[in-house]
Amino acid sequence: RAKRIGGHQIKTYVDGMEEANRRQAVIAADLKSVISDDQLRLYVQPQNDARTLELTGYEALLRWEHPEKGLIGAADFIPIAERTGQILDIGQWVLEAACQHAVSWDPAIPVSVNASPLQLSRSNYPAIVSQILIETGLPAQRLEIELTESSIIEDHDRVLQAIKALRDMGVRVSMDDFGTGYSSLNTLQNFPFDKIKVDRVFTQSIETDPRSRAIIRSAVLLGHSFKIPVLAEGVENKIQLDFLTEAGCAQVQGFLFGRPIPASDVPSNVEQALLTEELRTNLAGSRQ
Ligand code: C2E
Ligand code: MG
Ligand code: MG
Ligand code: MG
Repeated sequence: RAKRIGGHQIKTYVDGMEEANRRQAVIAADLKSVISDDQLRLYVQPQNDARTLELTGYEALLRWEHPEKGLIGAADFIPIAERTGQILDIGQWVLEAACQHAVSWDPAIPVSVNASPLQLSRSNYPAIVSQILIETGLPAQRLEIELTESSIIEDHDRVLQAIKALRDMGVRVSMDDFGTGYSSLNTLQNFPFDKIKVDRVFTQSIETDPRSRAIIRSAVLLGHSFKIPVLAEGVENKIQLDFLTEAGCAQVQGFLFGRPIPASDVPSNVEQALLTEELRTNLAGSRQ
């Protein structure tokens, strides 16, 4: 009997795998025309100063407006685009769109753009970035590139070269999803980052897990020693914000401050000032 159940479970598992593979193949096929059919949408999410709550930047986050499936989040197609190599074209599209939008914002507000391992491993990546800055007229100082640890382990020397070239141009480079890779500390030791973004898994367990709180405090200490700011991702409530502020995080990002919005809906300066006031008022209860 046990054998039969085992066999059944294996069959279900294999069916599930086949189903998942089929779905991915369909997405990969649809992805091919995503740029020519104008289906990519640039969304942005605010990043705020942890103490003053003022806007400090926007992160560009990609969405796919699929003709039948509707709006698809980055997590559901970026990994597939990475496997097919399409991320190279898509990544360039995002960079262009993000820089184009950012030139129309307040000149103090930077944009950060996520980069994939494959992009970083191409020797022409810094040249592409430089070209886009020239074409769009965005000053290099207003562009930030976010790298996760997985971007780095693939081709250590090439990536180090790319990071140095970007920083020489004046572009800043952040370490994204800090704390979730194999060796976050080793990566910090070997690569010159301008900011640490602590992964949202730590933020989201602040209230329940003393270890998460300890890890966040350690990340802040590291940031202080390296003289670079630490941003906490995924902030959803006041309790988390209060801990992060007290711990010394410089910046915060998350649904508490705003969900990703279409880049064309970025508020004007005046509207932004009102939003900051509104945020301060709403959160006043928990601040001293
Ligand atoms: P990420 O760079 O760590 O981006 C943050 C993700 O967390 C975003 O998901 C964002 O919508 C979500 N998020 C923000 N605040 C909160 C919060 O308070 N609570 C919760 N539960 N989630 C929050 P998204 O947009 O689905 O992006 C997922 C990942 O896809 C990104 O993680 C990034 O690694 C990748 N990605 C997004 N856009 C691009 C892109 O243009 N190029 C590349 N290469 N990767 C991208
Ligand atoms: Mg990011
Ligand atoms: Mg992140
Ligand atoms: Mg992430």
